[in-house]
Amino acid sequence: MREGGAELYPLLKQRSVDAFLVTKMENVRYLSGFTGSTAVLLITRRGGIFLTDSRYATQSEKEVAGFSVRILRRGEKMMERIARLIRSRRYHRIGFEGGDLRVEAFQTLKKALSPISLVPMRPGVEALRTVKTERELDELQVAIRRAEQAFKKVKKQIRPGRGEDEIALTMEHAMRKNGASKVAFDTIVASGVRSAMPHGIASSKKIARGDLVIVDFGAECNGYFSDMTRTLYVGRRLSGKKREIFDLVRAAQEAAIALVRPGITFGEIDHAAREPIEKAGYGAFFGHGTGHGIGLEVHELPGVTPNSQVVVEEGMVFTIEPGVYLPGLGGVRIEDMVLATGKGCRVLTGLSRGWEI
Ligand code: ZN
Ligand code: ZN
Repeated sequence: MREGGAELYPLLKQRSVDAFLVTKMENVRYLSGFTGSTAVLLITRRGGIFLTDSRYATQSEKEVAGFSVRILRRGEKMMERIARLIRSRRYHRIGFEGGDLRVEAFQTLKKALSPISLVPMRPGVEALRTVKTERELDELQVAIRRAEQAFKKVKKQIRPGRGEDEIALTMEHAMRKNGASKVAFDTIVASGVRSAMPHGIASSKKIARGDLVIVDFGAECNGYFSDMTRTLYVGRRLSGKKREIFDLVRAAQEAAIALVRPGITFGEIDHAAREPIEKAGYGAFFGHGTGHGIGLEVHELPGVTPNSQVVVEEGMVFTIEPGVYLPGLGGVRIEDMVLATGKGCRVLTGLSRGWEI
């Protein structure tokens, strides 16, 4: 018997499904080890089946552990094969990933399987992924270090006259050169009034003296992502309102990090970051959540969001990234990745949080 996907048996039981069809590639990778781009898993209580097409026959043989590997025949469609497999086993209820399965594939399945019920499972594998294994933590550390080394080098090039896009490109090049398999997302370099846009990707704007510059970047290594943000100031002394929001965001981030420990809710962590910003009168200028889980995806569970009742568990990795964005003036965001430990938390990112270049 193949035990692939055994970590999902309690969920299968709880939702009374006979099998769970996993289609989201990050989840396929998480459960089976497969790094290619096309495959599905059928997790049953008698073990797991891995199905891919002939392009991946050799790769799946090498990578996939614990699953019975099946290869599509020429001209055969993935959902048709899955439907045949399910029908041959006389199942009644099949779980699927409602957040991933395309409408077309869902309709093909529904038609081929009727009257078998299809049950959306959410969160399914994503919930398992929130707690990282030692191996995953090692991969995340590699993704962090490679991005950080690049930032340390490129940071010095942030000066008046340099284009945001030029800095972003240099960052991306440096991350790749440091061994990142790709960049995690389009690097954000937003300077001056553009820094007031929380997701201002790099433009052709030239950086000017007196600008706050938000740099939000990350690397992917072996499937795992890093994501961090620093805000720098182009000038000798940060003062006035820009200084005020910088210090405020930094204090808000520190307050949230100080609260992280198993047993606390993500809503409480969000509140710790939001409260000082609200008290200072800038609540309306902090429009996003305080953070997000990170691993095989840049944004995954758990969300560090207002009122979340999800409880922190040892081994969870997520970002803490409060920000204040003042239209016409500029913005500040500081983002670190943290790991919840047995007693508290460890900040995984190691860059200085200061504004000095
Ligand atoms: Zn980020
Ligand atoms: Zn982030």
